[in-house]
Amino acid sequence: MAGGNAAPGRNEGAGNGAPVAAYRGEILHFVGDPAVLGDAAHRHHADGVLVVRDGKVAAAGAAEEVLPTLPPGAKVTDCRGKLIMPGFVDTHVHYAQTDIIASCGAQLLDWLERYTFPAEAQFADPAHAAEVADFFVRELLGNGTTTAMVFATSHPASVDAIFAAAHARSMRLVAGKVLMDRNVPATVRDTAEGGFDDSRALIDKWHGRGRLSYAVTPRFAPTSTERQLALCGRLLDEHPGVFLQSHVAENRGEVAWVAELFPWSRSYLDVYDHYGLLRERAVYAHCIHLDAQDRRRMAETGAAMSFCPTSNLFLGSGLFDLRAAADSGVRVGLGTDVGGGTSFSMLRTLDEAYKVTQMAGQTLSPLSAFYLATLGGAASLRLDDRIGNLETGKEADFIVLDLAATPLLARRIERTGTLAEKLFALMILGDDRAVHATYVLGRLAHARAEA
Ligand SMILES: [Zn+2]
Repeated sequence: MAGGNAAPGRNEGAGNGAPVAAYRGEILHFVGDPAVLGDAAHRHHADGVLVVRDGKVAAAGAAEEVLPTLPPGAKVTDCRGKLIMPGFVDTHVHYAQTDIIASCGAQLLDWLERYTFPAEAQFADPAHAAEVADFFVRELLGNGTTTAMVFATSHPASVDAIFAAAHARSMRLVAGKVLMDRNVPATVRDTAEGGFDDSRALIDKWHGRGRLSYAVTPRFAPTSTERQLALCGRLLDEHPGVFLQSHVAENRGEVAWVAELFPWSRSYLDVYDHYGLLRERAVYAHCIHLDAQDRRRMAETGAAMSFCPTSNLFLGSGLFDLRAAADSGVRVGLGTDVGGGTSFSMLRTLDEAYKVTQMAGQTLSPLSAFYLATLGGAASLRLDDRIGNLETGKEADFIVLDLAATPLLARRIERTGTLAEKLFALMILGDDRAVHATYVLGRLAHARAEA
């Protein structure tokens, strides 16, 4: 080698001068659905290097191939012994319910009355909203979640707060103002016209700003009049690219209530269909008590399901049928659904997802599980052209997982042979302690303090 130690000390790329950062460790990401493509769905490098430039993935591959391509002096962060993968995508979560997580003893409708509405009423106060939003975003990042689809409350200030908190960290985030103009306390109730006007103003203010996207957010059919649901369809028609998020068929009492309120409907899902709310970028949490026609309809309209296992078990709602969803061809992502859900951690969520499928005589393979938590979630939000894996050009949202984060995890991982076995131990035993670092657009956004 000519020149001895003459390599420049600056992290400059040879070409355009943009700084280059590289991360060496075990790398795993997905390029497709393992249920469809089998082993061709994932890319795995036991000794790999991820290269980031300008906040985007510049390369990800075997160390022996990628290291020689780095510009002289490029900084290589040593993550050997750790697992680098894309950041997790949480497709359903309520930031305003952060403080009611782990509240005891209720099923859905009682839960809403007893805990949710009083908690959400406090978000009329912008200072309260800002404080919770900041904690919530830090909690996401501490759990390795780099993108989430988020319910705010019915107060526009609550939307400003969550978008501001995400924007300050350059996070890709989807959120919206909750629309509910009936069957809720006055402290959280809006009106059909007022909710429409507020949503339109918030879309103008936030949608497409940085990495933020807006979601029209009717809480669920029972708390919106038919007029409000019709206006949701109008908002979507007037603003192509805007998302929709809601809940459907979570709890049997809720399903019966919808049948009373909308006697003309064939099913709960049919109410949303009637108002044009089944479409691409529409994401429905739970989807438990659906029939085959409902699932087919979601698949053909391009709507997506958010599977929220910790919430479904905690509120006693029921068991999501992952196989039926897959067979229907509908897109599925995972949601923590905090505060009905019991953890911000997608690893804890995968653990419970596995158990839910077990109860139905199905098996969630570890590779499918991590696909759902990353690229599958991104695809259900139709953001998979930007996030969800480590293909060249993708936004560099990634995490570094510590497989020796706890003595038990370290001991169990040592006794695994295959990648699948290792991933399985991680999803059953792991939690936020396993998230060593979280990067957003290539910048360190969370580093776990050494114990
Ligand atoms: Zn929810």
